[in-house]
Amino acid sequence: MRSAVSSSLRIECTDFEPGGVLYTLSGDVNETFKAESLQPKDKKHIVYDLAGIENFNSIGIREWSTCLASLAKDGVDVRFRNCSVVMMDQFNLVPESLGEGLIESFYAPYFCQDHGEINELLNYADIGSELLSRIPPKRLCPHCQKLMDFDALAESYFQFHEHITRR
Ligand SMILES: [Zn+2]
Repeated sequence: MRSAVSSSLRIECTDFEPGGVLYTLSGDVNETFKAESLQPKDKKHIVYDLAGIENFNSIGIREWSTCLASLAKDGVDVRFRNCSVVMMDQFNLVPESLGEGLIESFYAPYFCQDHGEINELLNYADIGSELLSRIPPKRLCPHCQKLMDFDALAESYFQFHEHITRR
């Protein structure tokens, strides 16, 4: 594993199978972020683990989108895994930030009356049909097993699904 710190963004990089690389990112994507830190020269498959993404600013998201556009141009297979709620907000607000990437899994905000805010990891492949109708998947609180409320606007939070299926 190789590690790098693009200032506020921590990047860990692990090779897998021939031609693949997993980047695990945590921290903020801002004016110190450089696209080349996420663009390996000789890789055909890239998986980005985005559970640790905490913040974006407008300069950061522009550079991020440039990075994804360049990977799409080079025909690199890009997957996003464990996307944080902050990351999903960016994908929804700025469709270019997806590039041609596919979302494998992402966190969604839920709320239990007794236990407060709980982010649940959803597998994209499992919930495609629910997303089409903008119905949040039902989730039980891991502490009390009561049905939780979805804690965002489903219409907005699942907007990314449209960007992906429209390609
Ligand atoms: Zn609960």
